Amino acid sequence: MGNKNPQQKLKIELDKLTRQLAIKLANGRCEHCHSERVLQANHIIPRTVLGLRWDVTNIVILCRKCHLYWWHKDIIGAYEWIKNIRDLNWLKRRRAIIENRKGNPDLKMIKIYLEQQLRGF
Ligand SMILES: [Zn+2]
Repeated sequence: MGNKNPQQKLKIELDKLTRQLAIKLANGRCEHCHSERVLQANHIIPRTVLGLRWDVTNIVILCRKCHLYWWHKDIIGAYEWIKNIRDLNWLKRRRAIIENRKGNPDLKMIKIYLEQQLRGF
């Protein structure tokens, strides 16, 4: 942990804030089965698309069970489900814009935004 550069540290911090916010938005429950146990933040569009890594609209909160035995196993079922609770067209448009823009997102601004959102609860 001690030898991570400030940029990496900030990214890990943003992951934590995003997860916290996404869990709050999901009322502390798995969005699929409503369990409160072992919640995980799963990205709809891969987190390698940096501009969407810390965007809660790109995250679905699932319990470990739903994540491992449903989300990754029943791909078609999961897609049918997620398209009813998230705007996938919006996410795809955002992805296209981000990939065209090339530059890196402003991590400090994202942090300020996430902290502000979390204070709103
Ligand atoms: Zn679940």
